[in-house]
Amino acid sequence: MKQRRPLIAGNWKMNGSLAANQVLLTGLLDGVAQLATVACDVVVCVPFPYLAQAQASLQDSVIKWGAQDVSAQEVGAYTGEVAVSMLRDFGCGYAIVGHSERRSYHAEADALVAQKTLRVLEAGLTPIVCVGETLQERKAGLTEATVARQLNAVLAVLNTEQLAKIVLAYEPVWAIGTGITATPEMAQQVHAFLRTQLSGLNAQAAGQVAILYGGSMKPDNAAALLAMPDIDGGLIGGAALKAADFLGIVAAA
Ligand code: PEP
Repeated sequence: MKQRRPLIAGNWKMNGSLAANQVLLTGLLDGVAQLATVACDVVVCVPFPYLAQAQASLQDSVIKWGAQDVSAQEVGAYTGEVAVSMLRDFGCGYAIVGHSERRSYHAEADALVAQKTLRVLEAGLTPIVCVGETLQERKAGLTEATVARQLNAVLAVLNTEQLAKIVLAYEPVWAIGTGITATPEMAQQVHAFLRTQLSGLNAQAAGQVAILYGGSMKPDNAAALLAMPDIDGGLIGGAALKAADFLGIVAAA
């Protein structure tokens, strides 16, 4: 029995349509209904336009929904941005912040990710804060320095109470969407390091923070990853788009 309740979160990225989502959501609802117990929290992070669809489909189920990003601003003249209050209007419980695709394709800096984290917490939602090194950084022996820099920017703006409410996701960039997974031991090493960093702020809060692994997690590698003491769940990209795969990971948790 894990100290922290596992969390399996799907990140649909920029995939889907009203019709395709309905098939996926129905498959997920049917699948969880067939499980004797759902021993983890289950979340799907959908594109903004489909939040209403997710809310309508999932509101009476154990599956929660969230967004893949959010604005660091509260309201106003920020064309194209989506405020956390808007996510709340659609019943979101979660928002991913600092995904590596936002960091690399949209030049999101550590300080911006920290501000987004704060906005999400202030609105009463749970931020899923992503950190992770590139292959180049890993090869240069900079894995810990990279994730520490990314994490510390966020920790710098949080108080202890807020710290206990975040979810952290370790996503080695070289494992995202590549089919290459970090071995359970490699992932555990970084997760343990991240927890030590959190402990530097507050040991008790650090013990409460779920640290998810993300990067080509699939039904056939999930159990070994999730068996590691500091791996408290998964952030799932590709495998979240097929109900059977996603449910296979939920079952492993
Ligand atoms: C992700 O993008 O968060 C992710 C983990 O993707 P994948 O599972 O496809 O590697």
